[in-house]
Amino acid sequence: MRIELEKLGGGRGDFAHVYQPDELNPVDERVSLAAPAEVRGRVRRTGVGVAVDGHIDTQVKVECDRCLKPVQLPVSADFALEYITGADYESSLAVALNEEEMSVSVFDGESIDVDEIVKEQVLLAVPARTLCREDCKGICPECGIDLNTGRCNCAAEEVDPRWAALKDLKNTDR
Ligand SMILES: [Zn+2]
Ligand SMILES: [Zn+2]
Repeated sequence: MRIELEKLGGGRGDFAHVYQPDELNPVDERVSLAAPAEVRGRVRRTGVGVAVDGHIDTQVKVECDRCLKPVQLPVSADFALEYITGADYESSLAVALNEEEMSVSVFDGESIDVDEIVKEQVLLAVPARTLCREDCKGICPECGIDLNTGRCNCAAEEVDPRWAALKDLKNTDR
């Protein structure tokens, strides 16, 4: 969905949309929507550009960092963004001391892409580290078995030399 600034009566307006997961998936290689994403907000022209603020609610699916199982997380995020045109951005850069001070996005001066806002805000809301549960045991690096649900002998096969010595001791006792 795009918001055409020309159509904003009085330089401001409200918007609301429900995205089906298919419309935006995959959000990126790690994250996808697991439920419809509801976005609503306000747009208003400012002196130099456009301010957009609003709220997003959805559910996302992310892989567990250890076992790669999909984990579902709720996302509920507020956002407040400012947009200026590329030309205005260049001239404000000349005034600002450095780029980091500028918390604005650049747009074409005609419309705001709400799809992009939703994707960006969802990614910002997803934690960098995701585990299916705090004590996820992960997968065995040798055989790939999920150690939460199964066991393997990969670790056991590497016999600790101290145990090997003990075994020899037992044998000589007999
Ligand atoms: Zn896991
Ligand atoms: Zn194994």
